[in-house]
Amino acid sequence: SMKRKFILFGATGSIGDSTLDILRQRSDDFELVGFTWHQNSDKARAIQAEFKVAHAFSTSADDAADKTSRLLDIPHDFVIIAIVGAAGVTTTLEAANRGETILLANKESLVIAGEIVMAAAKAHGATILPVDSEHSSLFRLLATQRSFAETDTVYLTASGGPLLHVSGEEFYNASKALVLKHPTWVMGPKITVDSAGLTNKALEIIEAHYLFDLPYEKIQAVIHPQSYVHAMVGHADGTIIQHVSYPDMKYPIAYAMYYPGVPAKTVLAKAPQNYPGFEFYAVDETKFRSYALGRKAGVLGKYYPAVYNAANEAAVAAFLGDTIRFGEIPELIERAMATQFSDYDYTTIAGLTEFDRAARSAVMKQVLTV
Ligand code: NDP
Ligand code: MG
Repeated sequence: SMKRKFILFGATGSIGDSTLDILRQRSDDFELVGFTWHQNSDKARAIQAEFKVAHAFSTSADDAADKTSRLLDIPHDFVIIAIVGAAGVTTTLEAANRGETILLANKESLVIAGEIVMAAAKAHGATILPVDSEHSSLFRLLATQRSFAETDTVYLTASGGPLLHVSGEEFYNASKALVLKHPTWVMGPKITVDSAGLTNKALEIIEAHYLFDLPYEKIQAVIHPQSYVHAMVGHADGTIIQHVSYPDMKYPIAYAMYYPGVPAKTVLAKAPQNYPGFEFYAVDETKFRSYALGRKAGVLGKYYPAVYNAANEAAVAAFLGDTIRFGEIPELIERAMATQFSDYDYTTIAGLTEFDRAARSAVMKQVLTV
């Protein structure tokens, strides 16, 4: 058939939901041949039944790595990596080593091991297509550039999250209910917490650095509460082009699924006269400390982005587990970044995994002694 076959890693999450929604609408164009889930077996069974998928397994199994390799042996056209967090990096790297077409939602892969993943992709002819909305927009915008020199600055927008107008003690002590109430996007809990502290935007700046080979000084973030403008490219002459849509992840996912073809319409599009008014603000780096720390980690390079990511994951888990306050997340990240770890080799995945473990346990120790 003419259907393009794909494998979905992390089918039971929020990106999984949006992907399966596209598949439901466009079952003539795509076929899900395999997928993974982690804990949510009930949802996995429902997905397997609805889409009649022959190959599916839980990544919580001991032999998950072997199963991943066997899943990738099944004929397919592309993979979608929608696993959350550092757990996604080994799958991304394996797909890169196999020269796959990778639709990458798992930004943490590039934050932890951007150099290794991009080098593997280059060496083995893999294509990495961004699923993250800002990067999908940037990918489209950069394709309109006549030359690399034309691009002066790229801008990633951030909604500012539910705490944009909350500050001081209220920000520090923000409740889980408030933090998890994102104003414009419906996403999994980890990235929703990341968005409230603008950690997510720092992770995305690092992601953009590796995906598009851009120096950090050319990548800026700007607050845009409406989330209609996803990214902008500033030209050398001072003019800016923007990419605009209603905030729905089906746009960037479908764009990547149809690439290099023309993406079908999967969201009811609004006409511009029905858009809200657009606002843009500078990022307050004093308030959003996690953001400033993430930018710093990116610029420092080496193992710092991996340590930043691991410390954040551990701190977010502690916040979601009601063990720490929201304002402690950047404090724990900062302490982890200042910690002297052993001399692991940050140019290898094995070494970066050691940094990841060490940073997590440093955070866990802090959390348990407070
Ligand atoms: P969710 O928490 O909604 O889903 C996470 C998925 O990963 C689930 O399928 C979950 O399985 C699986 N998973 C959890 N832990 C593990 C593990 N240790 N090993 C393997 N699989 C695991 O996350 P999102 O869908 O929101 O996000 C997924 C990724 O996409 C993240 O990297 C996020 O930053 C990125 N992203 C998400 C956006 C969004 O709109 N949601 C936007 C842009 C990027 P189970 O539920 O069965 O346990
Ligand atoms: Mg994003």
